[in-house]
Amino acid sequence: MFWVATPMPELSQDGTELQTEVVVLGGGPGGYTAAFRAADLGRQVILVEPQNSLGGVCLQVGCIPSKWLLHVAKVMEEVKSLSSHGVVFGSPAIDLESLRTGKSKVVQKLTQGLSALAKQRKVRVVQGTGTFINPHKLEVKGTFGQQQISFQNAIIAVGSVPIQLPGLSTEDPRILDSTGALALNDIPKNLLVIGGGIIGLEMTTVYSALGSQVTVVEWSPTLLPGCDLDLVRPLQRRLSAKGVQIHLNTQFLGLLNTETLAVQFKTPKGIIQKTFDRILVAVGRKPNGADIGAETISVLVDKSGFIPVNAQQQTNVGHIYAIGDVTGQPMLAHKATHEGKVAAEVIAGHKSGFEARVIPNVAYTDPEVAWVGLTEIEAKSKGISYEKGAFPWAASGRALTLGGEEGLTKLLFDPNTKQLLGAGIVGPGAGELIAEAALAIEMSANAQDLALTIHPHPTLSETIAFSAEAFEGTLTDLYLPKKRR
Ligand code: FAD
Repeated sequence: MFWVATPMPELSQDGTELQTEVVVLGGGPGGYTAAFRAADLGRQVILVEPQNSLGGVCLQVGCIPSKWLLHVAKVMEEVKSLSSHGVVFGSPAIDLESLRTGKSKVVQKLTQGLSALAKQRKVRVVQGTGTFINPHKLEVKGTFGQQQISFQNAIIAVGSVPIQLPGLSTEDPRILDSTGALALNDIPKNLLVIGGGIIGLEMTTVYSALGSQVTVVEWSPTLLPGCDLDLVRPLQRRLSAKGVQIHLNTQFLGLLNTETLAVQFKTPKGIIQKTFDRILVAVGRKPNGADIGAETISVLVDKSGFIPVNAQQQTNVGHIYAIGDVTGQPMLAHKATHEGKVAAEVIAGHKSGFEARVIPNVAYTDPEVAWVGLTEIEAKSKGISYEKGAFPWAASGRALTLGGEEGLTKLLFDPNTKQLLGAGIVGPGAGELIAEAALAIEMSANAQDLALTIHPHPTLSETIAFSAEAFEGTLTDLYLPKKRR
């Protein structure tokens, strides 16, 4: 794309500033992956991060702590469900302090691992907040004071922060963002979750299992906006059965009383007023692109704070790269890490590019919902023709042994080439299963490839082969009268 070249600095050390070949701004999954890959490719690397440990949002206040709590929630639900198998446990005693400690230990183990990996690779970590002061120089402010770093190439990996709603400041400890919710300071009796996307519903799953009465308000007509309704329905049913109140097509109107946390929202049936103990705002995240002095070095930042990049992860200024949440949707750790590798490889002179056909999405709810590639919603809105093969888990032996009979696997194929275009799965382990579909799409696999691959029995993975067989007309595990070949 549109990049301009700027002269490179000499790599001599004058004692007043650090000099390096590659500086990486931000130590999240994008940043540390880029730094490590660049070092592995022989580059001298400095990684700048304000927090006192690496890992970014994902490790510290995102993917990992949420999955730890979701695991606890899942086991609690499974134990409860054993009553229908004739095994009854007493009600759980929840020791919040131990829960928090367990979560912190996992996070600490991983962040310490990252420090060790940085040391092994001789990646120098400078703790502080970086701002560009010229196209080859960064100023870092930290507890040590100020430090300038001159560099040949920079990789911006500064991530994103939660969007706040006007009138709902997290300075009030009862108003939470995802970080506050993961801190698990207490288990509120009544929790309002504003936003029925992945983060909102994962937190709903946790707090509902721990005993909170949760209300979810979502502006869109469905939970998990963008995901096909047949995948969302089993989740919505399960949440409702647990007593979660879900209001769709609903607009949060605001706080009526800051003392009592009385709020008002507008549902299709009218205005509801209700009082809550805590409010979790989970309406999305905004990128940190506007806060790094990008304008000083003429790096384009769009009005939402995202930094546009080309397939080589270059910004409009050729030696400045950007990766991860700050470059746009989807804001997911696995996108950030892949982009980080591309940036490092391009800097090292490799012919690399971000060419992934698809990026999987997973909600680690109960049941899990995962989808990759084309959805039916997208196909219909863009007029893309497709044919579907689906397998309800009610007919899967493995699903029945796991209590996952409400699950579903569906595959979308190109009607002409029979190549897999997209997949959606709802049920226990959907997040693990979706990886096979992602690989199949990357490898241009067709329905026969999936159907003729022998999947182990009895597993949930069989439902992928069965869905391909349903499309092919060769399925024997169900009777589908219309399509047999
Ligand atoms: P970040 O992880 O945001 O890291 C950016 C880093 O840059 C931070 O450490 C920050 O301190 C630092 N920084 C900021 N400004 C500066 C500066 N000026 N100078 C130097 N450093 C700076 N994704 C998944 O794929 N799977 C999940 O299950 C998942 N669960 C999530 C659950 C929650 C509750 C949340 C909030 C997010 C979740 N995500 C998940 C999203 C995932 O965390 C992000 O997509 C991922 O962390 C983005 O990585 P990144 O490297 O772009 O940025």
